[in-house]
Amino acid sequence: MRILRNTFKLKSFRSNQLEAINATLSGHDVFVLMPTGGGKSLCYQLPALCTSGMTRGITIVISPLKALMSDQVFHLQGLGVDVVSYSGDNDMSTNSTTNSRLRSSTKPAILYTTPEKLKHSQIAQSILRQLWETKQLARFVVDEAHCISSWGRQFRQTYQDLDQLRVDYPGVPIMALTATAKKVVINDIITKLGMTGCVSLTSPFNRPNLQYRVVPKPSAKTFLSEMSTWIHRNHPNESGVIYCFSRNNCEQVARELREKHGLKTDFYHAGMSVPEKEGAQSAWQRGDVHIIVATVAFGMGIDKANVRFVIHHTLPKDLDGYYQETGRAGRDGKPADCLMYYTFADVKKLEKLIDKDDLESSVPPSREEKARQKEQLHEVMRYASNITDCRRCYVLGYFGEKFDRRQCRNGCDNCVENQGSIEEDMTEAAINIIQLVQSARKSNFDMTESDCRDAFRGAETKAMRNKGYDRLPLYGAGKGIDRAVTERTVQHLLGNSILDTYDITNGAGWTNAYIKVCALHESLRICVFMLSCLGWFISRR
Ligand code: ADP
Ligand code: ZN
Repeated sequence: MRILRNTFKLKSFRSNQLEAINATLSGHDVFVLMPTGGGKSLCYQLPALCTSGMTRGITIVISPLKALMSDQVFHLQGLGVDVVSYSGDNDMSTNSTTNSRLRSSTKPAILYTTPEKLKHSQIAQSILRQLWETKQLARFVVDEAHCISSWGRQFRQTYQDLDQLRVDYPGVPIMALTATAKKVVINDIITKLGMTGCVSLTSPFNRPNLQYRVVPKPSAKTFLSEMSTWIHRNHPNESGVIYCFSRNNCEQVARELREKHGLKTDFYHAGMSVPEKEGAQSAWQRGDVHIIVATVAFGMGIDKANVRFVIHHTLPKDLDGYYQETGRAGRDGKPADCLMYYTFADVKKLEKLIDKDDLESSVPPSREEKARQKEQLHEVMRYASNITDCRRCYVLGYFGEKFDRRQCRNGCDNCVENQGSIEEDMTEAAINIIQLVQSARKSNFDMTESDCRDAFRGAETKAMRNKGYDRLPLYGAGKGIDRAVTERTVQHLLGNSILDTYDITNGAGWTNAYIKVCALHESLRICVFMLSCLGWFISRR
């Protein structure tokens, strides 16, 4: 408790932290499963500073990402912790300082390293061996431990070799931490690291007091006034966070909400100086400012209990981020709202930024990395455009946790609004729409989403005749089907990457989005066959 307060400047432990700390201090192997942002690092950083008890010596932390590592080292040094690090990137002099610190009589409390360094550096190996022989290895910590499992999405070859830790350094307790709840991955971690019989601490990911909701993003003209109406009505004078995509966005949204809509706002992003950021954060923390409009840069080290709402002005880049950002709401356990404004146009905007290397990163991502980022983004798109399934089930499912929809207890818009709704079989309509889109492409028509809807429903408009859509074989195949139902079916097909959009910029510089059958499904017959087997259902309220 003394170290928690004096060094980490925190008041109390979160669930499972104290259990993990006590278990490792007693010399047990420990497996920790905690959602991102749950507070995993404290579980090994704090015991590393406890010099009394059964274990003493250095805590070796193995981390896959250099960026993650340097953030943590920087943070710990700021708290006055004696910490050193190895990484392939460290220049020679830093690595040799690390070496001499590890050999000196006043040893650091923590050493951060990558698995590569452990494997390839002879010096590092001989130092570790010497520490082991003199009983000065307090524990090994394997952070992001799911990287060891080829069942997981982030498998890393060099993590594989960590199965030697137990063999090479018998008797040294191991702590493995992850935010991945998949059973196969967990079993893999425990067997590969040789930790069978370990103390296993898993925290539930579900946040029962959070209400999830996604609403269509209004047009730019009315967006902020609609947002402020929602805030005034549901959370007057309460604390909240609005996540925006860009720095400019933050400043402009904060200003407009303050000046035009009477809300107490400020903004926060990585482009501000440290005193500016601290000023904004502490004004919000004190309650002088109610709403902080921020980029994802906002959040680290923030522990405000009474955040009543988190709004996503633009959809997040991935569901991990979404879970973490919405997770800042309702830490006190009282009800809180998570509201996302969604439009397909934002997906397209983010995709373009991924292609342009504009997302905040120092090294330009590889092609595989870009494809991964897009896939992550599409996962968010599927989440947001889904209007039938429970959102809580969807998010928890993403982390590998099975969740019974009945337990949502109207905790998301889909569960509330689909009460008493009927599932409607739209298989035939979906197949007709796909074939309509394909036939339009064959006739070299560029078809917009609204053209598709109108042609499907056989709208007798001048535009349909002028563009020649009324001559397509499936024109009017969906006569009598509700306009809104048609729109949702098309949206659903887009959200599931059966249909896709493409852009054309005309001579006047206007860019329009048109739809086509997704490249993956170019083989239309297979797609239609699959659809007719699986069926295509949407619920009707
Ligand atoms: P993880 O590694 O699980 O994603 P971190 O260890 O980075 O999470 O912690 C996330 C945030 O929670 C950090 O800002 C940290 O300071 C904060 N935090 C961790 N433990 C506590 C605690 N007991 N009380 C308050 N804040 C905490
Ligand atoms: Zn639900």
